[in-house]
Amino acid sequence: MAEVRLEHVTKRWGAFVGVADFDLTIADREFLVLLGPSGCGKTTTMRMIAGLEDATSGSIYIGDRRVNDLDPKDRDVAMVFQSYGLYPNMNVYENIRFPLKVRKVPASEHDERVRRASAMVELDAFLHRKPAELSGGQRQRVALARAIVREPTVFLMDEPLSNLDAKLRVSTRAQIKNLQHELKVTTIYVTHDQIEAMTLADRVVVMNKGVIQQVGTPTEIYDDPANTFVAGFIGSPAMNLMEGKVERGVFVGQNVRVPGVSTKEGPATLGFRAEDASLVMEGAGERPGEIVAPIYTLELLGDATMITVRAGGALVSVKAHKDYRAEIGDMVGIRLAPELCHLFDAESGARLT
Ligand code: ATP
Repeated sequence: MAEVRLEHVTKRWGAFVGVADFDLTIADREFLVLLGPSGCGKTTTMRMIAGLEDATSGSIYIGDRRVNDLDPKDRDVAMVFQSYGLYPNMNVYENIRFPLKVRKVPASEHDERVRRASAMVELDAFLHRKPAELSGGQRQRVALARAIVREPTVFLMDEPLSNLDAKLRVSTRAQIKNLQHELKVTTIYVTHDQIEAMTLADRVVVMNKGVIQQVGTPTEIYDDPANTFVAGFIGSPAMNLMEGKVERGVFVGQNVRVPGVSTKEGPATLGFRAEDASLVMEGAGERPGEIVAPIYTLELLGDATMITVRAGGALVSVKAHKDYRAEIGDMVGIRLAPELCHLFDAESGARLT
């Protein structure tokens, strides 16, 4: 059990900054997810914690120990990668036992620990198979069992679900969440998939271009994104963002006027979630706070119909009733609730309200 602390950790390669001033304490037993687009520095952060990459500056602590100068094998962390990294010539049992041999754990403990770890990921029936005789999901579970068997103080997982098909991803995700709850091991998990982040994390770190954009619970980053980057990255669909300006408390954008949003005057970006707006069936455009525009596209989601229009210089989506039907090009009205809208600084993107 251990807290993991990164103090002003920076990674540079020449003039290029891969990770800039990463400063965060991950609580003992916390499930922390690093989330961001390709190249934002998630894997580099993880590799610095694991000891596979040196930090250019800053300190990394696992528990009370500063680990910057410790070899990966002495940090007591177990990593699970996207490519499972199994030994093809060993069967499942031997693959799971391998870390115990390397660590010179007494042989008398091996069998019990391997069986306990394999039972946790439901691999009991496959112990004699070779990796080539397993499905992708089963291989990933061997990789998980091999991390579990070590009983490490920290789990580091780098996109462990990316090679699985959609259905298996959902079930393995649930299994990882449940395992972490059972084992109570501090876990740092890297993904570019915001659904994975939202469903697994106690807290999410959203990164972009090496810089932390926001740290918060999934609810915090969904409801109160710190800036337009987070707003545009989190949620499916992401938050609607429209350019415009505030004039005497009214947000004015291309074919949209929303009163009562802010007292700050000048250029701004208005944001709202698809589920926080409603379609106006009759008399569209008669009241302020409504967008009137032709339908750009219409998607049936099963539990709702997603209507997208062009407004404020952007595509704007709202959720309508699942039985709502219309044609592309039909005029619709969308009503925004000013109290559910966010306003962002037009230049920095930082949230104003
Ligand atoms: P992905 O989701 O694609 O794996 P990531 O967020 O994990 O992306 P990193 O692998 O951490 O991103 O890379 C961060 C940045 O650092 C990228 O722009 C990458 O090109 C750069 N980078 C990574 N390793 C090196 C290296 N050895 N030398 C120079 N630049 C590097």
